[in-house]
Amino acid sequence: MARIVMKFGGTSVADLDRIHNVARHVKREVDHGHEVAVVVSAMAGKTNELVGWVENMPKKAGANTPFYDAREYDTIVASGEQVTSGLLAIALQSMGIDARSWQGWQIPIRTDKAHGAARINEIDGSLLVKRLGNGQVAVVSGFQGVGPDNRIATLGRGGSDTSAVAIAAAVGADRCDIYTDVDGVYTTDPRVDPTARRLARISYEEMLEMASLGAKVLQVRSVELAMVQGVRTFVRSSFDDPEAPGMSDIDNLPGTLICDEDEIVEQQVVTGIAYTKDEAQISLRRVADRPGVAAAIFGPLAEGNINVDMIVQNISEDGSTTDMTFTVPSGDLARALSILNNNKDNLGIDTVQSEAGMVKVSVIGIGMRSHAGVAATAFKALSEKGINIRAITTSEIKISILIDGPYAELAVRTLHSVYGLANQ
Ligand code: ADP
Ligand code: ASP
Ligand code: MG
Repeated sequence: MARIVMKFGGTSVADLDRIHNVARHVKREVDHGHEVAVVVSAMAGKTNELVGWVENMPKKAGANTPFYDAREYDTIVASGEQVTSGLLAIALQSMGIDARSWQGWQIPIRTDKAHGAARINEIDGSLLVKRLGNGQVAVVSGFQGVGPDNRIATLGRGGSDTSAVAIAAAVGADRCDIYTDVDGVYTTDPRVDPTARRLARISYEEMLEMASLGAKVLQVRSVELAMVQGVRTFVRSSFDDPEAPGMSDIDNLPGTLICDEDEIVEQQVVTGIAYTKDEAQISLRRVADRPGVAAAIFGPLAEGNINVDMIVQNISEDGSTTDMTFTVPSGDLARALSILNNNKDNLGIDTVQSEAGMVKVSVIGIGMRSHAGVAATAFKALSEKGINIRAITTSEIKISILIDGPYAELAVRTLHSVYGLANQ
């Protein structure tokens, strides 16, 4: 007997039929004698709809910011998960299974005060453990907790993955199964490249890079948490027949285990390709080349909550001015430009140029630590397809390349193929 957490994403609970299908998956594990906590997302598309409603509300009178009240945003967007947790509990009860829904505040899942992108600080798992021990299935609403102000706080888009891993850690689960609309983590997004191959295993570190660099199959924080807490996380499909033979035998099922690096026998040099769309590039021309300028530029952007990503600074030709290029999410471009233009004269910037619609494509692999030439291979392959590189950043286990938006798919497929990742 094991204690397991089963998480089901939006497409897996998209309608009542699928919720009944999820209930059959849960029943299978209960029938095996396991203690089960389930974490659910909202129905596919629901959170987008709720966010859209909030964004279309009139702004507070006199407010000159583009923001709405983040506490009310959370009240509204967290409601999608409340519906699916209740529906799944009813579906399970209709199959004769003792089940009860739980909202974040009832457990409680305590978060910090960053409404809309809150981090989980603490989960008291004792109540859940007691109920699980009595044979009751706990159906937990993902994506939400309760902040220090005692109000609902949401965990950022895709946050149900993080709820699931955090619950698994809090109740000391043997593993956390993430059921989604693909049967595992692939070498790249299978929607972009149908030759993508499922990885039987991937290390926490590589998965963290893949997720941070755009592979939205898992939320970044869920992978961080799994790594830190050592939660064995298994990504698998919810569309398999729940009663098919062997469905509880995870060692022999299609899926991807996120695990320690040393549990992976055959390590490849490159493990996967990820991409993020909607990047904007900002170039500052003829910036004064003196100590403190970078701090003066990036300080106000950070205060404005703008995530600056790739930063490239040229060596100054004449020692007096230099050029600086960096990227921000396209949605933040207008705000970033207004902050920069307000400070332009203080900073001695001559010109601010910008362009939206860029894409960052990344090559990820632990094997890069010990292999030279991985970057050169990428540059050559992209040049042969006529794809222009705008900026490059590297770390020990990844290379990220900024290119023009329309080349995204071509670049992903080209890199995926040049490193031999495609299904044979
Ligand atoms: P859920 O609603 O179950 O949380 P998501 O839509 O958040 O599902 O994540 C699953 C999707 O992630 C897949 O449908 C797939 O298109 C996308 N994806 C992106 N990169 C990858 C990858 N490397 N491997 C698998 N899926 C990926
Ligand atoms: N429903 C939330 C979202 O769409 C959380 C999740 O699906 O993980 O972002
Ligand atoms: Mg998701």
